Amino acid sequence: MSSSANASLLSRSLASVWHPCTQMKHHEQLPLIPIARGDGPWLYDMDGHRYLDGISSWWVNLFGHTNPRIGAALKEQLDTLEHVMLAGFTHAPVVELSERLAGLTGAQLGHAFYASDGASATEIALKMSAHYWRNHGYPEKNCFAYLEGSYHGETVGALAVTDVALFRDAYAPLVRGGDCLPSPDARLAEPGESPADVARKAAAALEAHLDAHSGRIAALIVEPLVQGASGMVMYDPEYLRLARQICNRHQVHLIADEIAVGCGRTGTFFACEQAGIWPDFLLLSKGISGGYLPLSIVLSSSDVFAAFYDDDTARGFLHSHSYTGNPLACRAALATLDIFVQDEVIAANQRRAARLGEAFRHALGTHPRVRHLRQRGMILAFDVADAPPGFSRRFFAAALERELLLRPIGNTVYTMPPYVLSDDDIAHLAQASAQALEVALA
Ligand SMILES: *Cc1c(COP(=O)(O)O)cnc(C)c1O
Repeated sequence: MSSSANASLLSRSLASVWHPCTQMKHHEQLPLIPIARGDGPWLYDMDGHRYLDGISSWWVNLFGHTNPRIGAALKEQLDTLEHVMLAGFTHAPVVELSERLAGLTGAQLGHAFYASDGASATEIALKMSAHYWRNHGYPEKNCFAYLEGSYHGETVGALAVTDVALFRDAYAPLVRGGDCLPSPDARLAEPGESPADVARKAAAALEAHLDAHSGRIAALIVEPLVQGASGMVMYDPEYLRLARQICNRHQVHLIADEIAVGCGRTGTFFACEQAGIWPDFLLLSKGISGGYLPLSIVLSSSDVFAAFYDDDTARGFLHSHSYTGNPLACRAALATLDIFVQDEVIAANQRRAARLGEAFRHALGTHPRVRHLRQRGMILAFDVADAPPGFSRRFFAAALERELLLRPIGNTVYTMPPYVLSDDDIAHLAQASAQALEVALA
């Protein structure tokens, strides 16, 4: 496409498309990037520039763009069944996916409820938890506890358990209050304290809170091991182990939002595995379809399922979305799970994550402005001390000029790349990050 045709596409986009999570006026200065195609971890724009997708297109892509295996599975599904409603009907892709996910939890979470995006999965888990307690005769248990810096989506219900002021403040009158509890953020360690010590302190605060309030609390919702949207806050698995025990003692559900950290991101398929625990509800979305189609899933235990199983319609979980259990999305997820097995992805990622860490430590480990360089599996982040105003946008622009897509969250630079980076890609990611940092700080 010629550049004048590009220019026209960009102005048409700004006139007709309301872009997400964007102050549209900023695009008076910052150009949109028209992407023509993708291939592996690379995106190509209409002028032939390329960008390494260092954030997996908002954390969704696992095995690269236009992955041939996922593509082939989808093409076959397209010619078989594109969609059928899931109330009163079923189909092979949704059954197989539910069984495989149950298998991955060792049958601990054997009931899969489907929706299309992550925020809906949060809403479903909150509703299911409160409804569970109501069905058990405790209707007053309908409040939720969540952690400082948490992010569970941006619909009105999900905002009630999300602690990101920028997303929440404008809608405060619409959003129900909840109980915000101390985060086990490992960066809070005092001299001589370990991340596990910080986790134990946060767990003690949870215990004290539930001692006083568990009569009205249905569930605690957490992002296991890494709180993504507030800046890749990492914490010790000890918190999850203790939170599981404390919730059990106080008859409070534990909801694990693995929308970002699931599907191998943290080094195990589910982040909860590193704590050796299972929640009552586990949420998946983002990577589960390989980054191909909107799909979210709430996995729950047989205890939860049994609380709704009754002759009385109103005791059932009467929640639905039009595209619940869409066969194409389920098929993309099955192809994604096949790749995990065929390519032994969890083991291969251990090596890839080690190389990623080495490359960043080498490029930035001793940089005077870099703080808390941290990593959990295929998520790596660092904070930038004394960053100038507009740092995030400056870094983003400087990285793009160096063939790299990274979008810092405030002063935190992070990467969460697809699991298909070559050694050269990793070297590029680290070097272009270091160069972009110099430009953004200049
Ligand atoms: C992205 C995300 C969500 C929301 O998912 P959407 O599909 O964007 O609605 C919820 N929780 C976590 C932890 C996320 O990272």
